Amino acid sequence: MVDDAPRRTVLIKLDVSSDREADLHHTKNQFLDCANQTSEWAWRYDDYCITSKNKAENALYNDLKEEHDLTANLVQKGIRRAIEAVDSGVDKLKKGEKTSQPVFESWSVVYDKRSATFNADHATLSTINGRVKTDYVLPPENEREDTPFGRYYENDEWDASHATLQYDEHSEEFYLHVTVKQPRGDNEERQEATSHGEGTENGVVLGVDLNVTGAFAVTSTGKFVGSADYLTHKRNEFEKRRGRLQQTGTRSAHLTIQRIGSKFSDWSLDWLHNCVNELLEEAERVGADSIIFENLKHIRENIANGSKFQQWAYAKFVELAEYKVEDRDLFVDFVSPAYTSQRCSCCGFTHEDNRDDKAFVCQQCGYEANADYNAAKNVAVRYCGYIHRGQKSRGGWAACQSALKSGTLNVNGDFNASA
Ligand SMILES: [Zn+2]
Repeated sequence: MVDDAPRRTVLIKLDVSSDREADLHHTKNQFLDCANQTSEWAWRYDDYCITSKNKAENALYNDLKEEHDLTANLVQKGIRRAIEAVDSGVDKLKKGEKTSQPVFESWSVVYDKRSATFNADHATLSTINGRVKTDYVLPPENEREDTPFGRYYENDEWDASHATLQYDEHSEEFYLHVTVKQPRGDNEERQEATSHGEGTENGVVLGVDLNVTGAFAVTSTGKFVGSADYLTHKRNEFEKRRGRLQQTGTRSAHLTIQRIGSKFSDWSLDWLHNCVNELLEEAERVGADSIIFENLKHIRENIANGSKFQQWAYAKFVELAEYKVEDRDLFVDFVSPAYTSQRCSCCGFTHEDNRDDKAFVCQQCGYEANADYNAAKNVAVRYCGYIHRGQKSRGGWAACQSALKSGTLNVNGDFNASA
């Protein structure tokens, strides 16, 4: 989609509390490092540079994410910033102008609505150390009307879409350069609404339950993604082989351990990528606006008996999902996990006897289902409950529906099979 919506930039001075300034500086350093590493990778020779953002992200994202404390979004923004610069460098070369590999030195970090909130009198910015709240330093209210802040930022017809954080070394002040846009056309309006929240009446959520046995992930629409048993089996095979080699103890055995170790971690990452893709396909198929997981702390507790490897796999799966939705009209959010496996998604009756391993039978209404599918529906229903009680969703919806098998369940629990 070509984005030709009218846009303006509004410069806002920030009041950053002194104990958080270092967090912003470190965030900038890491952000620029991601951009510089990307530039280094993409700028091969003057006649051969990589200008595909997808290629760059596939090649670099995992390592950069591992090496830095930045959120997935900021790592991705760093990669994109560099690729855009490489791309315009290549354009210059094509025109016969002189240029060289882009180097990022000036103080700036790129934020969008996933890594920042733009509020009436303050912003929150994602950093290497959680979010930082920064108040705006604004002109007096009676003079504001004639400033860009009054004309655009405070004007409902304009919508803050992204910003660049900058720092002025001389005055030692932080500034936010906020880009505001005027939504144009239905599609764009809808997209803006989805990411910002105003105007979207009704969001559709896809609930997901993650497991150590049976299917790796089960959705509230009854889609079973990947086999946790298969993943465990592959891991056990690898462990056994490593054990045998360790007993051998020779140098060549040691080298083989390293080789099969890195092969196995490549394989499992690839496997997780494919699972996330399947999940995203399902989300798209049912028209979901968001994917909801139980919060990670619970996933860790739930699989406390599972191995470190399983814990890693679940955390990675969720991280990849968060990362991959950034390109789409979708977001990832979390619910508190209490009793999702014991609660009946049909009548709400919660009892430990309802569940026996993979079989769920409600002791009150008799509803029978795969236990993980029932849990995934509870995840979706619970998220709708949050919205129903007035908690703001990341999509800012007024209401919300769970995506269920061949239909939707609205906040009142009415099932609509035709939806
Ligand atoms: Zn029931």
